[in-house]
Amino acid sequence: MYRTKTCGELRASDVGQTETLAGWVQKNRRMGGMTFVDIRDRYGVTQLVFNQEINAPLCEKANKLGREYVIRVTGVVKERSNKNAHLPTGDIELIVSELTILNAAATPPFTVEDDTDGGDDLRMKYRYLDLRRNVVRSNLELRHKMTIEVRSYLDKQGFIEVETPVLISSTPEGARDFVVPSRMNPGQFYALPQSPQTFKQLLMVSGFDRYFQIVKCFRDEDLRADRQPEFTQIDCEMSFVEQDDVLNVFEGMSKHLFKTIRGIEIAEPFPRITWHEAMKYYGSDKPDIRFGMKLVELDDVLKGRGFPVFDNAGYIGGICVEGAADYTRKQLDVLTDFVKRPQIGAQGLVYARVEADGTVRSSVDKFYSQEVLQQMRATFAAQPGSLMLILSGQDATKTRKQLSELRLEMGNRQGLRNKNTFACLWVTDFPLFEWSEEDQRYYAMHHPFTSPKPEDIHLLDTDPGTVRANAYDMVINGVEVGGGSIRIHDSALQNKMFRLLGFTEEQAQAQFGFLMNAFTYGAPPHGGLAYGLDRWVSLFAGLDSIRDCIAFPKNNSGRDVMIDAPSVIEQSQLDELNLSITHVH
Ligand code: ASP
Repeated sequence: MYRTKTCGELRASDVGQTETLAGWVQKNRRMGGMTFVDIRDRYGVTQLVFNQEINAPLCEKANKLGREYVIRVTGVVKERSNKNAHLPTGDIELIVSELTILNAAATPPFTVEDDTDGGDDLRMKYRYLDLRRNVVRSNLELRHKMTIEVRSYLDKQGFIEVETPVLISSTPEGARDFVVPSRMNPGQFYALPQSPQTFKQLLMVSGFDRYFQIVKCFRDEDLRADRQPEFTQIDCEMSFVEQDDVLNVFEGMSKHLFKTIRGIEIAEPFPRITWHEAMKYYGSDKPDIRFGMKLVELDDVLKGRGFPVFDNAGYIGGICVEGAADYTRKQLDVLTDFVKRPQIGAQGLVYARVEADGTVRSSVDKFYSQEVLQQMRATFAAQPGSLMLILSGQDATKTRKQLSELRLEMGNRQGLRNKNTFACLWVTDFPLFEWSEEDQRYYAMHHPFTSPKPEDIHLLDTDPGTVRANAYDMVINGVEVGGGSIRIHDSALQNKMFRLLGFTEEQAQAQFGFLMNAFTYGAPPHGGLAYGLDRWVSLFAGLDSIRDCIAFPKNNSGRDVMIDAPSVIEQSQLDELNLSITHVH
């Protein structure tokens, strides 16, 4: 037998028992005639004791144990004289009488402990060692619990998990496809699913009524921080539903997850705001509403008073930061540099403080009378001690986005973005289309299967840019955790949608004829959504990166550095696939 107990199990109540443990050597230290070894497994760490005086050969053997050796030990549980309150097994130790080395280990390239000395690259290269660390393993345990709770909740709600294929053809979600050459169909390629979107809609046509799947999706996107080319969705679809039906079911699921995973009871309904409101008040379609600091428009107050920058602006707006009036000149310079960074692109930052007596002192006092500054203060409803930060620009949307970045930065600086506080929100009524200046055409903001709001359908021909979609996102703490829509279920409308998106009749038929055809055989009204599991787990685990809740993630260049993928393939394999490489950059 390899073990009678795990390394996290023994307590004071076990004192006097003889037990056998198996695990990895975490630490080995000698003190006088004693050798102390920490043995670790998935469940915890136990201190082992070897005594030179009692059993010299055994102690010698223990002295030779290197880090990460795999061992089995038998001994008697003894109460420690020096208890360790930080360790669940810290009241006891095992006085070892038998030691078996099950496998020796090479010296690990970094310490396998919570506070490791291993850098990111090294840890990814030896991810199997990294996964021995509590911090990483506990994220995967959390992930496991979440999927169990998702399945249990959705099962109770009558959802059926159905697997959809991975070797398919393009599903447009706005990214590039990963493609797989077909040996049996020379010159032809499969695409990996960017989502199971079309298949789940076909399942609704088939009458499945409520479908879900915890499923890998693949998107070949340009490098962006914290994206993985393969990621996991909780993908869901329902028939005979309107937007409210979908939001209610999935708000219920979210509350269930908060309760079972984080022990947080959310009684109130999630707030719902429209996309337009989100953009107006937060400059973002995924606002972090853990804190206020809403964007305030100042054109009426500050324009036309002789300050050229504002007089020539298309939009002037600001945020009011309570209790920040004591920001020093230096801190304000740092903020100015922050908004001027190319990623944000503001021209400059104007600030105004409300002093204790209510007087406003600004960086543009030269141009504005106290009366106007007081009008501005009233627009913000700014209390004494507040700092007002103001940006301007030609384009309202761009300037609002810049203010949104500044708002998040100030939220961080003021300690308003606590990882253990959660604020959930639905954003609804997204625009159906997004205009691309570069390509001079419309793109679907969500995907081409999203339905327009019935009351806006008449605008499809005349003013497509203003058509609102039956689409919604769930946002938690400024992270878009999920999104979906009520779908088009009418073949003619779907066809029209493709036309508006620049598909010719032939292209639409070739790519999506199967779906439009299916819609002619009795498609029920349907809708759904998909959650990003990785993002949600990282949010619950308080992680900065989704990589930390994925067992074997890719790095920022889309590489798996452990197995060295992607890699060059043999000429014979290329020949078999009828492929030739023309050039490599
Ligand atoms: N397929 C969509 C996505 O991946 C989600 C949905 O509309 O259900 O974002």
